[in-house]
Amino acid sequence: SSTPRVALVTGTRSGIGEAVVRHFREQGHQVLAVDFNPEGEAIAERAGAAFFQADLTDGEACKAAVADALSRFGRLDILVNNAGIQHVSSIEEFPEAQWRRIIDLMLTAPFLLTQAAWPSMRENGWGRIVNVASIHAQVASPGKAAYISAKHGLIGLTKTAALEGGSQGITANALCPAYVKTPLVENQIADQAKLNRMDEQEVVEQIMLKNAAVKRLIDPGEVASLVGYLASDAAGAVTGASWNIDLGWTAQ
Ligand code: NAD
Repeated sequence: SSTPRVALVTGTRSGIGEAVVRHFREQGHQVLAVDFNPEGEAIAERAGAAFFQADLTDGEACKAAVADALSRFGRLDILVNNAGIQHVSSIEEFPEAQWRRIIDLMLTAPFLLTQAAWPSMRENGWGRIVNVASIHAQVASPGKAAYISAKHGLIGLTKTAALEGGSQGITANALCPAYVKTPLVENQIADQAKLNRMDEQEVVEQIMLKNAAVKRLIDPGEVASLVGYLASDAAGAVTGASWNIDLGWTAQ
């Protein structure tokens, strides 16, 4: 069992973020779940977490989310930057507005949330920043320019935070999953099936798991366990790292 902490998790309406909130609650942590979808409130409540509605593409909303955690709980120990979206299009056709939205949500928001959370972590001499990146922070695939650029950038932010936090008890790490069974991926399976005139099983096997040694999608709970470790006391020597949880994708 670990010391009870105060955690802020973004993107908690579904998928990995929802699993992380449940995992932290099981560990006895207090949690503020942050999502732009108001349906996130009931999901947070069921897990025993507080909820703050914020569209994190808005910088002021990022600052307000951290302020809400501090005013509710008096401190902030763990920040999990998880909220994310995807847009698939060739560079030639990629809409500028989509590019900006993805960079705002997946790179600028983690920066602003880290900045706002930092003073509390520094004052307590203990902090954990866990950035949910992607295997697309290590390798690219066609059609995902904004997502892949944001995720590669998130690794740079992680490494910088690790260097600045080292003397202050603050660690920062990224984790890099391959395909996890969440709504984000289920929508992609449906889209790819239509696009390629395949059935959904074929999309999973021939496209998503093409490079995987372990031929199955990842469970959100498996990612939450790794977040839990990186956020724990036990992980104090781990910082500036990118942990792949990728079914062996990048082993070849
Ligand atoms: P998901 O769609 O289930 O969850 C994303 C969450 O982000 C949702 O709750 C959504 O409401 C929230 N969100 C979206 N836009 C927002 C905004 N503007 N403001 C606040 N919240 C917003 O997806 P997921 O698969 O659980 O993805 C979570 C993270 O994991 C993302 O950063 C994603 O890039 C990353 N990831 C996912 C996979 C995968 O295969 N599913 C693989 C690697 C990395």
